[in-house]
Amino acid sequence: MAKGVFPIDKLQSIETPFYYYDTELLRETLRSINTEAQKHEGFVVHYAVKANANPRILRIIREAGLGADCVSGGEIEASVKAGFPASKIVYAGVGKADWEINLGLDNDIFCFNVESIPELEVINELAAAKGKVARVAFRLNPNVGAHTHANITTGLAENKFGIAMRDMLSVIGETEKLANVKFVGLHFHIGSQILDMGDFEALCNRVNELQDELDRHRIHVEHINVGGGLGVDYAHPNRVPIPDFKAYFDTYARKLKLRPGQTLHFELGRAVVAQCGSLITRTLYIKEGAVKKFAIVDAGFTDLIRPALYQAYHKIENITSDEPTEAYDVVGPICESTDVFAKQTDLNRAKRGDLLAIRSAGAYGEIMASQYNLRRLPQGYMSDDI
Ligand SMILES: *Cc1c(COP(=O)(O)O)cnc(C)c1O
Repeated sequence: MAKGVFPIDKLQSIETPFYYYDTELLRETLRSINTEAQKHEGFVVHYAVKANANPRILRIIREAGLGADCVSGGEIEASVKAGFPASKIVYAGVGKADWEINLGLDNDIFCFNVESIPELEVINELAAAKGKVARVAFRLNPNVGAHTHANITTGLAENKFGIAMRDMLSVIGETEKLANVKFVGLHFHIGSQILDMGDFEALCNRVNELQDELDRHRIHVEHINVGGGLGVDYAHPNRVPIPDFKAYFDTYARKLKLRPGQTLHFELGRAVVAQCGSLITRTLYIKEGAVKKFAIVDAGFTDLIRPALYQAYHKIENITSDEPTEAYDVVGPICESTDVFAKQTDLNRAKRGDLLAIRSAGAYGEIMASQYNLRRLPQGYMSDDI
């Protein structure tokens, strides 16, 4: 497998660890999303800001015309600052604080994705105080499992997210009693890193059933939002740099029965940004252990927590060596035994000073960085700029 293409000379002069973003790949990915989504009438794509809120990344995604899917007031602020029009901002989350709801109201965002009746009442009250009417969609828990890591399925009845399906009619009924909220849509999100189109088909079937029920009660829904969750190929970032957006959007076009005039909204995060980002780290020491070799690097789980948090696999390449491969445990400097990026992974023979690229790190990487051990936060650099 060929290595990714990196401007090694330029990367050598940047203080490690840092994130390197291939903006050309990001733009190509966005073109593919637009091409495939625009083949279907009424499809509207939002970017899930939580995957990566680097201001430069946000600007490129906004320039491509996507909307923003936010899960906090901070993300609404970042989206507005990056130039996303409020009419394309949706806001989800089980625990919206008053200031966050007020921020959404002040910006006249497109829609609040509401996850409980108490939340609906608070939105109504805060909207009334401003003399506004908030547009709300209900996030329903479709009880659809996704074939992904247990920590990142969100659409099962046991998860904290959303409203139970059997309560759908009663929560919609509640909006009739409240003067400052308007019911406009249904929202779903079944999980993340989903590669089996059958999982999305299962969601479509569920949405169709719910819409049939709504038809029987003559309730019209302006829009359906099916969330995000499309996965990427972590094992082959070079061979499959762009996810199969055609299969993804075509699945929804084939299986989900939209009513006349309805729009279908998507909230893709990982699939948009994962493959364009790499965490670049320098090898500090090669340690010959009793039974194996360790490559000790200057990045740790404070820079990229996915391997420690989800046992996630990231392909690692030694981008400054062409020597024969050897097996290494690639580990960070943090005082926790989970600070391991990979066990017994093949790298071109590594020595002190070599640069390693931890691939497919553009999503849930930089944004989840912490300062544990009082480490510095990693910076992000764009291929456009260096
Ligand atoms: C996290 C999240 C997304 C994006 O998920 P990806 O797997 O990154 O596509 C979309 N919608 C909601 C509500 C989310 O919480």
